Amino acid sequence: SFSPSSSSSFSHGTAISRFVSTLVLAEHEGGSVKTSSVSAVAAAKAISEENSISVLLAGSGPSLHEAASHAASCHPSISQVLVADSDKLAYPLAEPWAELVHLVQQEGGYSHIIAASSSFGKNVLPRVAALLDVSPVTDVIEISGPQLFVRPIYAGNALCTVRYAGANPCMLTIRSTSFPVAPISADSKCNTAPVTQVDLSTFIEVTLGKSRYLNHSSQETERPDLGNARVVVTGGRALKSAENFKLIEKLAEKLGAAVGATRAAVDAGFVPNELQVGQTGKIVAPELYMAFGVSGAIQHLAGMRDSKFIVAVNKDADAPIFQVADYGLVGDLFEIIPELLEKLPEK
Ligand code: FAD
Repeated sequence: SFSPSSSSSFSHGTAISRFVSTLVLAEHEGGSVKTSSVSAVAAAKAISEENSISVLLAGSGPSLHEAASHAASCHPSISQVLVADSDKLAYPLAEPWAELVHLVQQEGGYSHIIAASSSFGKNVLPRVAALLDVSPVTDVIEISGPQLFVRPIYAGNALCTVRYAGANPCMLTIRSTSFPVAPISADSKCNTAPVTQVDLSTFIEVTLGKSRYLNHSSQETERPDLGNARVVVTGGRALKSAENFKLIEKLAEKLGAAVGATRAAVDAGFVPNELQVGQTGKIVAPELYMAFGVSGAIQHLAGMRDSKFIVAVNKDADAPIFQVADYGLVGDLFEIIPELLEKLPEK
């Protein structure tokens, strides 16, 4: 059994924080839990100090079990790791995952369910919410109490405080950039939570929906992950071609940075859409964000305005990006990037 202690007696009122138990839906890759999922654990911890946190991992094969032992030691607040091992869960498709979470929730009676606001979380969590007949609270950036959350609205131009007054479980997606965690290596050992196998005997009967896994393609790169990088170098439409975009890539390489792009650059085919930053792309908050030939449209700002330092290079002195930039340089990127490449020391 994987029931968290006392979760079934969760109720509204002053005793709330004593009965918080959270299920974190975790993503894993190459035998490690993704940093964004560890941020979801950090968010769960912010709900209540006394939160009993279970991390759910699913998949099949050896990498799942490697990820499970990584999960068991990746954050000191994890009470247990639940592992669902099935061929039907080999790929992170929303339908089987939603059925799985539904099953685990029926067994565990968690007060909260949290996932990172990644493509995976945004895909799975609303389905689970529909199955459980509750409304999820999405894109949470601050947790003020077990049922009090802050989330951006109007593309990040206003913050809205939401009091969740629905039935249990309270379901959240969180922006991992708002719950930063120290980088975790696969061999980190801060705690070892017990690992429990989820009993899938009833799950096997479940109809698994209409989606089919076709393939997974991602760029082979040694650059840091865009969502968690300390430095991001972004190029916009002004780069004009995929060939010219290599200037951005070279600069990123020199700085040990991740590469980002505007939607205009993605739509023009300069780079794949996994590099898109913005309202309909990735949300980033690095220590340094460098934008080259980016106008600063509101939908782009929604994805990067929380960066610590913003540097913008644009040949139009009135470009809106300069309103959010800490350092702005009016000039031609085709002159400025080569100059930077020349002056920056080799890595
Ligand atoms: P442009 O707006 O065309 O700007 C190019 C800039 O480059 C200009 O400011 C120009 O002065 C400058 N420039 C030109 N040549 C040079 C040069 N040689 N040197 C230096 N500067 C130069 N956009 C996103 O980025 N992310 C999103 O997630 C996103 N989601 C969207 C969702 C919706 C529903 C909608 C409607 C739009 C969305 N957009 C998004 C698109 C957004 O509105 C803008 O169209 C887009 O961000 C513009 O990209 P850009 O800055 O590269 O291009």
